[in-house]
Amino acid sequence: MKTISLNIDGKYIRTTEGNSILAAARESGIYIPTLCYHPRTRQAGKCRICVVEVKGLPGLQVSCSIQAQDGMVVLTNTDRVIETRKMIVELYLSSGRHDCLSCEASGECELQDAAYHLGITKSGFPVIDKNIPVDHSSPMIIRDMNKCIQCYRCIIGCDDIAVNEVLDMGYRGSKMTVVCDTDKPMGKSSCVVCGECVQLCPTGALVEKKAVGKGRTWEIEQVKTTCPYCGIGCQMHLHVKDNKIIKVTGVEDVEPNYGSLCVKGRFGYDFVHAPDRLKTPMIRKDGRLEEAGWEEALDYTAKRLLEIKQKHGPDSIVGIGCARSTNESNYVMMKFMRMAIGTNNVDHCART
Ligand code: SF4
Ligand code: SF4
Ligand code: SF4
Repeated sequence: MKTISLNIDGKYIRTTEGNSILAAARESGIYIPTLCYHPRTRQAGKCRICVVEVKGLPGLQVSCSIQAQDGMVVLTNTDRVIETRKMIVELYLSSGRHDCLSCEASGECELQDAAYHLGITKSGFPVIDKNIPVDHSSPMIIRDMNKCIQCYRCIIGCDDIAVNEVLDMGYRGSKMTVVCDTDKPMGKSSCVVCGECVQLCPTGALVEKKAVGKGRTWEIEQVKTTCPYCGIGCQMHLHVKDNKIIKVTGVEDVEPNYGSLCVKGRFGYDFVHAPDRLKTPMIRKDGRLEEAGWEEALDYTAKRLLEIKQKHGPDSIVGIGCARSTNESNYVMMKFMRMAIGTNNVDHCART
């Protein structure tokens, strides 16, 4: 890959040929606001707040969509650029129901951030409330298209990352909005509830239902961990408040999942705080399950395995490994079955 150099705001920077001006600026820590661009979705070129001036080119250029060239001179902070960005953000704020005080996304909303960085306190345009009914039909996702800025991230994420092709832009003009399938409620559409679109949405248009009202972003600690559900080992952030998990998101910039999660990994965390969760071994005595200590449970298991082996032979016993266990634990279980029990009846729950 060839390296080129260009000048952004008086600073000489080097970048790989083929990168956009936005990517080159980001690599060098130069802030250019964006709403539609996301590293995981292809460039959308929709929001146009990433405009910059490029010496020798007429008008303003959309920095996510124009390639950096060797020797290029770029200005990201001129009065013309700032005024244009302000106008675009004000138009976004006026084209929906942006009631930040009660919005679930407040504190992590990229539209709110852009308004803050541009010093916008209120839109200079009359507010157009589209009055679109909020869609609560999905078991896990709330869709409020009154807060949608039509950035296309959810559509691209569903098409190209989740590869489910549920979402698209429907209708025309001022009625244009994101629709599921042929404009069905999300809960009645072909959505598989992976939550990719929720993670990519820059505003409060798509939020996780279970997390609503559970805590503001600044009250939440993010704990990085590995998903417990299968052997892929997706990296996730647990959003924790008062020692309780209130939401899970994928970690964006690391293998193996780069932010994506399946429905179980993203939404299936209730078991952690389930009141009937097993916390000790249980032994059935006189037909009833009773709590037991680990020593008692292990002695009981060893005694019963020995009895069964002596009475019915080793092949009457089967060992099933768990997808949530480590490779090492499953290896030990396999060795135990073959060496201690004396059977090759070993399998894995991911196959059953
Ligand atoms: S989506 Fe963003 S700008 Fe709109 S109400 Fe929510 S926090 Fe405010
Ligand atoms: S939850 Fe997943 S499948 Fe459903 S619309 Fe969003 S990205 Fe598509
Ligand atoms: S729902 Fe969110 S991600 Fe989708 S177009 Fe609207 S603002 Fe963008």
